[in-house]
Amino acid sequence: MRLPPRVAHAIRTGPRPAYLYDLAAVRDNLAALSAALPAGTRIAYAMKANGNDTLLRGVLRWADGLEAASGAELTAAVAAGSPFTLLSGPAKTDDDLRAAAAAGAVVNAESLHELRRIAHVAPGAKVCLRVNRSHPALPGTHRMSGAPTQFGIEEPQLAHAVTDAIDRIHIVGFHLHAVSNNLDAAAHAAFITDAVAWATRAADTYSVPLDIINVGGGFGVDVTGAATFDLDTFAAGLTDLRLPAGSQLVVEPGRYAAATAGWYAADVTDVKHTHGRWFAVIRGGTHHFRLPASWDYSHPFAVLPVDDWPYPFERPAVAGAHIDVAGEQCNPRDILARDAPVETVRAGDILVFPNTGAYGWEVAHHDFLRLAHPAFTVLDC
Ligand SMILES: *Cc1c(COP(=O)(O)O)cnc(C)c1O
Repeated sequence: MRLPPRVAHAIRTGPRPAYLYDLAAVRDNLAALSAALPAGTRIAYAMKANGNDTLLRGVLRWADGLEAASGAELTAAVAAGSPFTLLSGPAKTDDDLRAAAAAGAVVNAESLHELRRIAHVAPGAKVCLRVNRSHPALPGTHRMSGAPTQFGIEEPQLAHAVTDAIDRIHIVGFHLHAVSNNLDAAAHAAFITDAVAWATRAADTYSVPLDIINVGGGFGVDVTGAATFDLDTFAAGLTDLRLPAGSQLVVEPGRYAAATAGWYAADVTDVKHTHGRWFAVIRGGTHHFRLPASWDYSHPFAVLPVDDWPYPFERPAVAGAHIDVAGEQCNPRDILARDAPVETVRAGDILVFPNTGAYGWEVAHHDFLRLAHPAFTVLDC
């Protein structure tokens, strides 16, 4: 694996362990996705994928706004200057709802009870009804629609929810986010086309305004690099999409915007052989980058060689072997890569894990063992 030279340079010369985020990659990802979507589609970046404040301000140069999934994210979205903000989440507090109304954000409402609470505490809020549709879900890792989940209003209950709420709150459309990390671009295009057709019919059936048809995120990235979400296939699959006049299509990509824009770098502190296996131990680990442990896969990495060696004794090293990469925790599950082939790795070299810009730091258990947090470097473009 070859690292972009400016990334390698920043990692070599900067503090470590570190996350390095490259805004040029965020820009390119958003531009490519935008070009594949129908003209006029609004992109609200799902900030839970990577909520780094510098990155968020960068994102707002290329996206229309931000999707927040907690009250704290909403606060950060407002601070970043988001001109179009949405608030999701199945357990919003009254304060969250008031803050959304005050910020002019669209609330993606998750239940009849939430609609009643909006009418009670934040009647000025703009609301999209999040619907858990009856049809089977898409492929992907986190299915949220067409299956029993805590999200949205079940389709058979929609008529009741609308009747209850329509005169008291400002409904602006539907929210139909259904899946995360879907790599099947044709299926995703079919899902969006169908979601638009469904929303058009439902708005008519239930007499709901349809300013917004929000089809959510879920555009997939294979962080091992083995597969890609094919944007040409995706664009070709959207040719039957018919957006009603006056309605705006909204998407909320998180992973797709940020995953390939991140590199996680950590120094090798030791190289050792035990019970027939080679280990490279790094100063870092799953408390910084948890995805390989939680999804149980081996994350690819590059070895950035460092020639300096400060000690007067032999440097631990291995060549032409398969290694496991272990972190600094006293925990055998602190593993980022398994059985990975390396040409050479030595104590003192740097391991760099690409495609770690989304759900990397965000979902890790940062404070375990009181270990130090990584540095964060954002390269502008
Ligand atoms: C998580 C989430 C997203 C983003 O999902 P990705 O798979 O990262 O694109 C978008 N919308 C909602 C409501 C979400 O919860």
